[in-house]
Amino acid sequence: MTLTELDFEGMFANDKPHDHCAVAGVYHHPNAAQIAYYMLHALQHRGQEGSGIVTSDIEAGKRRFHLHKDFGLVNDVFRDDTILTNVLKGSSAIGHNRYSTAGSAANKSNVQPLVVNYKNGNVALAHNGNLTNFREVRTRLQDEGTIFQTTSDSEIVLHLIARSKEQVQIRQILDALNQVRGAFSIAILTDDKLIAARDPHGWRPLAVGKLGDTFVVASETCAFDIIGAKYLCDVEPGEVLVFDKDSLTSGEAKSYHLQKPNAQPHFCIFEYIYFSRPDSTVFGESVDKVRRKFGKALANEHPVSKNGSDEKLIVINVPDSSNTATIGFVTESNKLGVDSKYEIGLIRSHYVGRTFIQPDQDVREVKVKAKFNTVKGVLQGRRVVIVDDSIVRGTTSKQLVKLVRDAGAKEIHFRVTSPPIKFPCHYGIDFPNPQELIANWAGGDVEKIRAELGVDSLQYLSLEKLLESVPHENGESYCTACFSGQYPTSITAGGVKDEYEM
Ligand code: SF4
Repeated sequence: MTLTELDFEGMFANDKPHDHCAVAGVYHHPNAAQIAYYMLHALQHRGQEGSGIVTSDIEAGKRRFHLHKDFGLVNDVFRDDTILTNVLKGSSAIGHNRYSTAGSAANKSNVQPLVVNYKNGNVALAHNGNLTNFREVRTRLQDEGTIFQTTSDSEIVLHLIARSKEQVQIRQILDALNQVRGAFSIAILTDDKLIAARDPHGWRPLAVGKLGDTFVVASETCAFDIIGAKYLCDVEPGEVLVFDKDSLTSGEAKSYHLQKPNAQPHFCIFEYIYFSRPDSTVFGESVDKVRRKFGKALANEHPVSKNGSDEKLIVINVPDSSNTATIGFVTESNKLGVDSKYEIGLIRSHYVGRTFIQPDQDVREVKVKAKFNTVKGVLQGRRVVIVDDSIVRGTTSKQLVKLVRDAGAKEIHFRVTSPPIKFPCHYGIDFPNPQELIANWAGGDVEKIRAELGVDSLQYLSLEKLLESVPHENGESYCTACFSGQYPTSITAGGVKDEYEM
């Protein structure tokens, strides 16, 4: 019998949308690389395919950049800890965790940070997001003679900096960032500065923190907790913050603004639904708090009917992203008089690597079983509610339902803390092709999806209730395009992927 080896983690991971990366930056710390390493470790959930750190150092009076990057998890890339102490010397650093689309996974040059040397010195870049006009800009630059080293959209920023007619470096960077469109939260390292920039619509988060007199920036604040840094503020949409030697005396960064004075914020609502860690503060609000609100709103909008029964409902989460929403769902259900109990009914293995299947086995079933198991005593003979954050293809959800049914659940009610996903994202999130999304397959018919998943009832949180649950106090507004199809910006032809076929 032939066994087929599966890249298990990668295949399984395809049934959730993927963020395209995490960024981290450190200014003025004797162990900048180690600080960046711990921050990237805390941000591992935002990208698992590659990781890298670049540091800025002075050697024999000369400015030098030191870079180490590779495929793999942060722990694997920096397995040899002398890389952090002996190779990545210097007091400033930026780092990056990458998630890439399948076609680019083999191209190591796409792993960030990207580093170049040009007339004004060294410059390195770490980017989270997706530049919607990158094909247009790349074609123009190629026509003008620019040679590209990578297939990543991020590289155009470095070329625009190097080719800028401005004389002063910060003006060159502003000039470059004013020419790109779409989503970017960026950390840039120069010979003597750390620069943090966010696009005028602020799709992706970028936070600033402080550790003693060291400044740090990161995609999420959980990266500050791991190093004991204090969260200060977010880089505002359209803001470019420069940390240099003056920041050490003034205690603050110099602030510049990109052109686009009337740009509305379009914070990615999926950061609250799934991408960000619940222990982070994102867009100025606790992710945990917002997810609990989603759970409460869902219980209010779509309570599970008693169905003539006085039996307690057993409510289980799909670990880990729906954990806190499930708590909100149970709290609200009980308030509404639906007797409910939060239970851990699904156990997730965190140690899934490769797995092997026999030809007669269902690949999806093997994948899900290797990742999840049920606590049968919790589920057997019970009315069970499964709370999940989203349904993408539906393949994993269907297998999870089967596991719960096989564990003896008498009824299964599926509740989702987001609306049906029907449209692709052009701002840095990787969804499958629209035709692979179960909501499209079903033509938006929730009853058809319910039947496909094999549950007794299925309900999604509406877009209206989702939007009511997120903060609006400070004028925040959100991108919801993957649910509504209402893209807040125009998308140039072909500018919809972050990779360029070479
Ligand atoms: S389309 Fe969806 S995933 Fe993409 S930025 Fe908008 S809300 Fe986020």
